[in-house]
Amino acid sequence: MSNPKQVYITIEWQEQGPLESTGRRLWRRERKVCTVEDYPQRIPCNNPDCEEGGFDIGEKIAALLSSKENNEQNSLICRNAINKERQKRCLHIITYSIACVRPYQRQKPQAVSKDG
Ligand SMILES: [Zn+2]
Repeated sequence: MSNPKQVYITIEWQEQGPLESTGRRLWRRERKVCTVEDYPQRIPCNNPDCEEGGFDIGEKIAALLSSKENNEQNSLICRNAINKERQKRCLHIITYSIACVRPYQRQKPQAVSKDG
């Protein structure tokens, strides 16, 4: 079923571990397309030592949806970064970008070349 009033949300993120001598290690890169009804509240953390960690993307998406902006790029640190026990702290971060496609924007802009 396609709803002409549906707002689509594209989330792209890459997760990175703690700083290493050669820079940050890339853990994984993902892309997800979802709607207002089913966007994730939390992206799970892939650190095997991190218990119940994750990245609270849901509130970022909600804030973006209620704003007049359509794009946001930022980074989030794992929620376990503030664990009381130092050893359980997780230093994974994600760098994300969120893009909202609102219904009235779906008409194709003119003069866009597909070459390239
Ligand atoms: Zn974590």
